Amino acid sequence: MTAELLELTAAAAAERVRAGEVSSDELFEFWRERAAGDDLNAFLWRADGPADVAPAPDAPLGGVPLAIKDLFCTEGVPSAAGSRILEGYRPPYTATAVQRLAEAGAPLLGKTNMDEFAMGSSNENSGFGPVKNPWDRTRVPGGSSGGSAAAVAAGLAPWAIGTDTGGSIRQPAALCGVVGLKPTYGAVSRYGMIAFASSLDQAGPLTRDVTDSALLLRHMVGRDPCDSTSTGMPEEVRLPTAESLEGLRFGVPPELTGEGIEAGVREVFEATLKRIEDLGGAVEEVALPHSSQGISAYYVIAPAEASANLARFDGVRYGIRKGDGDLLSLYEETREAGFGAEVKRRIMLGTYALSSGYYDAYYGRAQRVRTKIADDFRAAFEKVDLIVTPTTPTVAFPLGEKTGDPLAMYLNDFCTVPMPLAGIPAISIPGGLSEGLPVGMQLAGPAFSENRILDAAHALERSIGFDGSPGLV
Ligand code: GLN
Repeated sequence: MTAELLELTAAAAAERVRAGEVSSDELFEFWRERAAGDDLNAFLWRADGPADVAPAPDAPLGGVPLAIKDLFCTEGVPSAAGSRILEGYRPPYTATAVQRLAEAGAPLLGKTNMDEFAMGSSNENSGFGPVKNPWDRTRVPGGSSGGSAAAVAAGLAPWAIGTDTGGSIRQPAALCGVVGLKPTYGAVSRYGMIAFASSLDQAGPLTRDVTDSALLLRHMVGRDPCDSTSTGMPEEVRLPTAESLEGLRFGVPPELTGEGIEAGVREVFEATLKRIEDLGGAVEEVALPHSSQGISAYYVIAPAEASANLARFDGVRYGIRKGDGDLLSLYEETREAGFGAEVKRRIMLGTYALSSGYYDAYYGRAQRVRTKIADDFRAAFEKVDLIVTPTTPTVAFPLGEKTGDPLAMYLNDFCTVPMPLAGIPAISIPGGLSEGLPVGMQLAGPAFSENRILDAAHALERSIGFDGSPGLV
């Protein structure tokens, strides 16, 4: 029975619970034991007893336990956003997205490791040590939602949620061989998510397959009076059923699929394009002329917003407190001890970019580039229904390989950064293997086209038949 539970997707497990074949208590206990066996450093906190709130027997998510990125506030449970500065912080309330999922029947299994304040592409910026990639433990799982991706890939959790600001759901999903979806900006409430860059941050699912992503997303979305930028979805998120791509036009932007994409990734990408045509889809080139400026704009805008958001960590209100002299030394010593090097780098970059005299030259210009990128997508979606690219330029790289070179690290997000800048949704699904490591394929669509994306991803997923989650073999 237990071996069988491990093989079920979350949606299938929820069905079994609803059919009375397995109880939600048994299911929770099974996954609690799996999570307890974590030897990847994927979890920062794990449930040590039965689920807090027993899900209703007919709950749509069937009591299937959920792993949650550490930056979602969860009442009474450590929530540190992967940072030492928040060590020991237990929030007095729960993030709206987590609350909605719990109410739909997905109780909290554990909090997952992440790059500190979601700043990173490898999980090596975590204040609590890096996560290992289950496909090859000497390699990174990607970031910043690396703990969530690794936990799902290794069968330590049935499904998980993360956040994506410049790629942090899709990139680790690609490097760990799971599905990751970044929804349209505003579809999911950001209330209770410890903020990195508020105009970009968006929560979404990391799952074994596309159907599980649709199921989680359906119960995460919605307008929330506590987040004035949340809109919810104009239509219900449907479980995908498509098996063909007939009638869909796919655009391949040369700017995001050319130089810098390693050969093994390119091979899987080309095979995917062929597959799209075999499934009845049309593939054509489409220009996104400003998308290659995405990284430059992102690394001004995101640090600018981060420098403002992180001002609240001053030793007064949350987490650790250092210094015993005057107020200024309290601020300085707390922030010196609590923040890691990348966070400090971003605060300095952001503060500089926003300083008077430079504001227009850096922040203002980056915002104008952002508008151009969004305009490019708008024009492209007049010609095609979806855009397809590799999710990342490379497969998972060795731990330590890029830690000394922030710019090389930032290039990981080359293909994923334009979508959050434009606020549009995108998914990464496993496309195949290169050198024995997973390669992610990305599909992006216009704002609120999640159902179209999920359907296309479902048809592709069935045809690819990706198999081989390392924890399940
Ligand atoms: N890797 C990117 C960064 O370091 C994106 C992170 C994210 O999406 N949270 O900012």
